Amino acid sequence: MTLLNWSNSFAKLPDAFYSRVKPTAFHSPVRLIHFNAAAAGLLGLTDDAERIGKSPWLEWLSGRALPENADPLAMIYAGHQFGHFVPQLGDGRAIMLGEITHPEHGKWELQLKGSGLTPYSRAGDGRAVLRSTIREYLCSEAMHGLGIPTTRALAMIGSDDDVYRERIEPGAMLTRMAPSHVRFGSFEVFFYRDQYGHIRTLADYVLQHHYPALVHSPHRYLALFSEVMKRTARLIAQWQAVGFSHGVMNSDNMSILGLTLDYGPFGFMEAYQPGFICNHSDHAGRYAFDKQPEIGLFNLSCLAQALLPLFDLTDGENIDLAVAAARDVLGQYQAVYLEEYAALMRAKLGFQESMPEDQDLVQDLLNLMAADQVDYTIVFRALGDFRSHQHATGGVRDLFMNRPAFDEWARRYGARLRQEHSDDVTRRLRMHKVNPKYILRNYLAEIAIRKAEDEQDYREIDTLFRILQDPCAEWPEYANYAGHPPEWAGQIAVSCSS
Ligand code: AMP
Ligand code: MG
Repeated sequence: MTLLNWSNSFAKLPDAFYSRVKPTAFHSPVRLIHFNAAAAGLLGLTDDAERIGKSPWLEWLSGRALPENADPLAMIYAGHQFGHFVPQLGDGRAIMLGEITHPEHGKWELQLKGSGLTPYSRAGDGRAVLRSTIREYLCSEAMHGLGIPTTRALAMIGSDDDVYRERIEPGAMLTRMAPSHVRFGSFEVFFYRDQYGHIRTLADYVLQHHYPALVHSPHRYLALFSEVMKRTARLIAQWQAVGFSHGVMNSDNMSILGLTLDYGPFGFMEAYQPGFICNHSDHAGRYAFDKQPEIGLFNLSCLAQALLPLFDLTDGENIDLAVAAARDVLGQYQAVYLEEYAALMRAKLGFQESMPEDQDLVQDLLNLMAADQVDYTIVFRALGDFRSHQHATGGVRDLFMNRPAFDEWARRYGARLRQEHSDDVTRRLRMHKVNPKYILRNYLAEIAIRKAEDEQDYREIDTLFRILQDPCAEWPEYANYAGHPPEWAGQIAVSCSS
């Protein structure tokens, strides 16, 4: 059994940044539902699920015992939730056990989610249900498989404890890991309290541990903000290109490292609708799919406000300069986003060069997809088989109802491919590496959830886990997982309550 060295650099920060709190174990016996050997490898942990289940790790991952030198804590933060500032939030159901540093893979914070009450639990019970735990576990690994920055999932623990939501559901615990779980809201909480020294301490911590290249830059806080802006813009471009909706883009769910963070009522786009709302509690559609890029900018402006005291290069004499500097960074967001998005969409269409007509080709295809409500993932995957020298027949063409409109687009697409002398065979290979065949469709997660809830059968979780780690592969034996969702999928409702 591998025993690793635990520490906790965050716990060395002043008390104002967290509350020391221990996990609360479940009353009932627990079981290891899934263990992610790939994520474990990042820690230097080489044990498989069977050995983990018999080692002290099971005790740690279920909150029943604490590793030596772990210094568990719940982080404090604030945040703009659905546009409204909430001055005091924090890890209400998550506890950071501590961190493990790997010589090559660096520092990883391990956080239990669903591990009981903390001082920030407000009206909540500190628990997570099996349903949402499975969704986060699978989706964070699916995002990683798609090459999108994200927190990782290490393990999932099941229990027979009842957790009360709209119905009674079994409680579960997720262990997630990230180099840092610091959020935009981690800064906002101190801005609201006028504790500017704490903002500086936290920024210095983040710089030292996560942006060491910026530590010695002349305006390091501005450099930090600029880097966070770029990572955020690129992250959201990746979400848009793959059709992912986060669902709750509150500023407390925005990672300072530009990771996808806090999976709740997320959804992958199926029938293409730009205004897709995956979160059933989001009645106004604030976090609709096509709003995500501008919400990213809103959240960055919340972070800018919190960091403003650090941008002031004149010791309070001229705040206008700090505001101008922040504005300047925010002003670059759209260009960074658009450049990344355009590059991703060019790759999805198989273009190796950039040409002036590309933007229109992308937009016109999306418009056709929206008009016919065709499946986003299936269309792009099928487009890999497009023949640039032939009139399109079958395949992707059959997905559209308005064939004349598609044919007109296909004629332009074929001409565009021929302009760069695109070779169909190598283009197909390239496109199949960026256009996934498999995404975590809600109904697929739902089937795995039902089997886990009703029969404690976790095989479907493992199947999805394996496919989604390599979502661009063919997986011929699972081809039916790549098809259109069944009709009942339309009735699945996901909301924040989990
Ligand atoms: P979320 O929208 O899931 O990111 O959660 C927003 C805030 O509510 C965070 O501070 C969470 O820690 C807290 N929270 C969510 N669910 C619970 C729960 N069951 N118990 C305690 N706190 C919770
Ligand atoms: Mg959250």
